Amino acid sequence: MIMSTKNEQLFAQARKHIPGGVNSPVRAFAGVGGTPIFIHRAEGSKIYDTEDNAYIDYVGSWGPMILGHAHPKVIDAVKRAAEDGLSFGTPTPFETTVADKICEIVPSVEMVRMTNSGTEATMSAIRLARGYTGRDKIVKFEGCYHGHSDSLLVKAGSGMLDIGEPTSKGVPADFAKHTITLPYNDPQAIKDCFEKWGEDIAGVIVEPIAGNMNMIIPEQDFHDTLREQCTAHGAVLIFDEVMTGFRVGLGGAQAHFGIEPDLTCFGKIIGAGLPVGAFGGKEEIMSCIAPLGGVYQAGTLSGNPLAMRAGIAMFEDLTVDGFYDTLADKVTKLVDGIQAAADRHGIALRTNTLGGMFGMFFVQDENSTTPSNFDEVTQCDMTIFNTFFHGMLAQGIYLAPSAYEAGFISSKHTDADIDATINAADAVFARMASAA
Ligand SMILES: *Cc1c(COP(=O)(O)O)cnc(C)c1O
Repeated sequence: MIMSTKNEQLFAQARKHIPGGVNSPVRAFAGVGGTPIFIHRAEGSKIYDTEDNAYIDYVGSWGPMILGHAHPKVIDAVKRAAEDGLSFGTPTPFETTVADKICEIVPSVEMVRMTNSGTEATMSAIRLARGYTGRDKIVKFEGCYHGHSDSLLVKAGSGMLDIGEPTSKGVPADFAKHTITLPYNDPQAIKDCFEKWGEDIAGVIVEPIAGNMNMIIPEQDFHDTLREQCTAHGAVLIFDEVMTGFRVGLGGAQAHFGIEPDLTCFGKIIGAGLPVGAFGGKEEIMSCIAPLGGVYQAGTLSGNPLAMRAGIAMFEDLTVDGFYDTLADKVTKLVDGIQAAADRHGIALRTNTLGGMFGMFFVQDENSTTPSNFDEVTQCDMTIFNTFFHGMLAQGIYLAPSAYEAGFISSKHTDADIDATINAADAVFARMASAA
């Protein structure tokens, strides 16, 4: 058992000059209670707190660490890049290499623009969809997260097919009214929406596999309908693959479903852990951004050489034959093991896995199905999740500190790591069962 008061002290110090002590809200453990652990280094499958307690990590910096932390090849590429200078504000050959690589791996992407975060990528893709179509309305889905720009921090209004309401203070209602929010994984809702607003919709943005309401793999029909309706009404289909890109498989969720979106957003993995984002797609649409076209988009540090050279090093390993099969085998072994432990102790657990990503839901009872939309995720047992999370943490297993997040594995997670995780879960479930 890991026992420490150091994190409480560090958290108190952090809160003095940083709002909530964190630079991104989920890190504050608000969903699970307790004190966040402060990490000072990481290697392979493990992260280490400031007293050097090791945790087997299933967050992986929220996805980027697909090769494990501090991968020697990536670190070496960054060191060499740093020695050559941190940023020039000019074109570099490294940006071209990354763009070529993305276009080669993802056939729907013919041109790509780098940004510094996933938020910038989605925000810019939305502006581009509006500029390209000359329309204002955007469609998004309940439970999908696309970063924190104004147009996207919107939820459904009180009536179905109503105009949106901001989910954050500070987002003008005048902005939110251009965003329509639909239930995820519901083909009929898409048809109804296009029937009502069809000629006003600039674009639809979707997490093609949802990873910000735990992990949900939607029906094929959901994507077929989306593609069909966008094409029929001249709306731009935007796949937000900031999380799923190069994570659920080399070609991302679009390869899994066999769908060609018009635009795709990337982030997380492509910078190997450095701040990065990208959006790309059809040449006809991408040619509308400055300097070629009238849709303005820019970034002082965009295409930063450290991030690009880290990304290039990482792509070398991702494109090795069988990389994603091995990763998927690890996830399957992990999730099957945890499922068997839950079954043994009468805990109702449902799971989803694809490539190097997984979801775990503590559902109401043994008759419950795997959640397929946001409403169903909110019906999961958050108390059981919190007990599970803290039980695992105390045994040196770091899961995402929220029941609304997905899990991530790296190629550096060993059989021993996975066995230790399953054993820890078994111990937590056994305690839960005897307390019940
Ligand atoms: C993480 C994420 C974003 C936002 O990326 P940031 O780099 O945090 O701005 C956008 N979309 C999805 C699907 C994400 O998972």
